[in-house]
Order: sequence, then C-alpha cells, then structure tokens
Amino acid sequence: MLLVAGPFQSNNQTMKKILDAAHPKTCLTCNHIIRGRTDKKFCDDYCRSAYNNKHTSKKLSYIRSITNKIIKNRSILEKWANKKRNPISLYDLLSDGLSLSYATEYINQPVGNPYVFCYEYGYQLLPGNNCRILKRKTTAETGIIHQNLIP
Ligand SMILES: [Zn+2]
Repeated sequence: MLLVAGPFQSNNQTMKKILDAAHPKTCLTCNHIIRGRTDKKFCDDYCRSAYNNKHTSKKLSYIRSITNKIIKNRSILEKWANKKRNPISLYDLLSDGLSLSYATEYINQPVGNPYVFCYEYGYQLLPGNNCRILKRKTTAETGIIHQNLIP
C-alpha cells in the first residue's frame, strides 16, 4: 500500500485554504482583502451596495439614452402632426433631429414602406424623400388602432 505524505494528501478544502492564503480574495468595490467565508465578494454591506448601484446605474443609463431618443422622435412627429401639413419633407424631420434608427414599432404595409412608430406618432417614408405623418387613435376598449391622423 502506498501512503502519500505532505500537505496535499488531505481533502480539497485544505487545498483551497492554501491557495486562498497565497492569493487572498479582494473586495470588488474597494480591493481590500476579504476575511471570512470563501464565497464573499465584498468586505461589507456598504461595498456590496455601492457595487450594485454602480452597475445598475450603468445599465439604466444605456436604457435611458435609447428611451430619450425615441421620446425625442415622438415629440418631433407630434410637432409636425399638429401643423396639419401632410406629407412633409423628410429633411424637415431630419433637421429637427429625428433619428431613423430608433422607434417603438415597425408595421409592414401591403404597399409602400412600413409605418414607423414612436409610441402613438409615426411616419411612412414616401417616394421623393417625403414622409406621411401618422398618429394612432387609442380607445379604452380596443387599445391601439393604427390610423392616420391627417388624410
Ligand atoms: Zn470593500
């Protein structure tokens, strides 16, 4: 029978303790060495909360930036819908800052380009760099109906 001597003959936990002592874990927020349970990532509640707040706010800031672009598009379309002039030049929308990359919905049409909506206001690209401004009518019973505001 062969007997193995030395520190590595015992179980994996001992091995892990040796490795942890050589390379101590550090807090993800403040980089201080963490004491206590091996699965700890932070030295205390303050560091855990600071880490989570920072990462959540990064995600929310990206989402907010997209939402703000869509809201800006909506207000540009609302402005032009209220001018009661339809169709209008695409360049009028673009010079107001409309971004063609952001919308809440694209609805394919049997003929022509899809309706592009930013919430209840939308547009349809027409030949000759013109745009038809659209507005959905909503009712409490039926929800959203797709319909032109200005014929
Ligand atoms: Zn810390």
